[in-house]
Amino acid sequence: MPQEKKFTSAATPSSSLSSSSLSPPPHPPPIELTPTPQTTIEPPPEETKILEEKFINSLTGVDKQAAKQILSEIVVHGDQVHWDDIAGLESAKNSLKEAVVYPFLRPDLFRGLREPIRGMLLFGPPGTGKTMLARAVACESHSTFFSISASSLTSKYLGESEKLVRALFVIAKKLSPSIVFVDEIDSIMGSRNNENENESSRRIKNEFLVQWSSLSSAAISKDTGKNDIITSSPGREEHKEEDNRVLVLAATNLPWCIDEAARRRFVRRQYIPLPEEATRIVQFKRLLAHQKNTLTEDDFNELIKLTEGFSGSDITALAKDAAMGPLRELGDKLLDTARDNIRSIDLNDFKNSLAYIKPSVSKESLIEYEEWAAKFGSSG
Ligand code: ADP
Repeated sequence: MPQEKKFTSAATPSSSLSSSSLSPPPHPPPIELTPTPQTTIEPPPEETKILEEKFINSLTGVDKQAAKQILSEIVVHGDQVHWDDIAGLESAKNSLKEAVVYPFLRPDLFRGLREPIRGMLLFGPPGTGKTMLARAVACESHSTFFSISASSLTSKYLGESEKLVRALFVIAKKLSPSIVFVDEIDSIMGSRNNENENESSRRIKNEFLVQWSSLSSAAISKDTGKNDIITSSPGREEHKEEDNRVLVLAATNLPWCIDEAARRRFVRRQYIPLPEEATRIVQFKRLLAHQKNTLTEDDFNELIKLTEGFSGSDITALAKDAAMGPLRELGDKLLDTARDNIRSIDLNDFKNSLAYIKPSVSKESLIEYEEWAAKFGSSG
């Protein structure tokens, strides 16, 4: 892998919306060899509101209320997650760099045959870092980050979902480069033959696929004829250069629930497995890095044997609980104990916590993931 360069924060999601013009970030962002402080001067709230109004008024074919909702609830501001914050998952990181980060930062190199993909699916057991990866991709590629849980489209936003989906894609194009992260994608891309799929879910799915197709004329022609649920798109615009830098990054814990037409659209399907031993060690060490602890290399080795089958979020939960050990034993005395007199976290704290913090993913479901990955996953 080529050495990564540091870029300025000029195009972070927060700055995209708080900059004076609400225009897309520069192409490509200026290269800096040293990190620059991640500070942006936020305009006063009144000014932001006026800019937002202006921006919304400049959008065509979009429901204004939906646009407002996208800007206030779906666009993630100032998120700072970097590759190094994520333990392990090297092949997933490399795959995301090649598929998204490099094409977004160097669009001039990724044309024609190298045209970036429009959809990537991250699948695997819950708590393995899929959301973290999406956040890191947005941050490292200096993209505007839109994050929505697909299940909220069929619950919280039901009734406005189609307008919201349309606004989501129009704004994503305007503020490109953009990552549209859709968590729990299975809840809108479920099998079409499923009896539970009611009319409104079908409409949401239809709108989503239509808008997604509008990102690339190539994507449409590939699927034409096969994808009968795609009808018309009132908001469809001509394929533009900036559409090249909008990617739908979706995550699911239930990949087998996604229907075939939707599955085909995710050109890359990346398996995010449970962390291996080496990854668990890295994560434990990182979590304990700023905490007084007595854990030796041998202790860490014992700990990783004891945490076979734990997901990344199980490991975080375990470390958080173990870190409470030294405080828990103090009881009320905690209130009068000086910070320096609180004992270090040790292996026993972890062993105590292991009595009730158990792996959340069953062996049986792991087999299902592995089978699906072997059948439909992208290699690597
Ligand atoms: P998913 O989206 O796969 O369900 P998340 O990305 O939301 O999982 O991860 C949940 C939490 O688990 C994170 O906030 C983090 O604390 C921890 N975690 C999971 N995987 C990793 C990892 N590879 N490195 C560091 N922390 C992780």
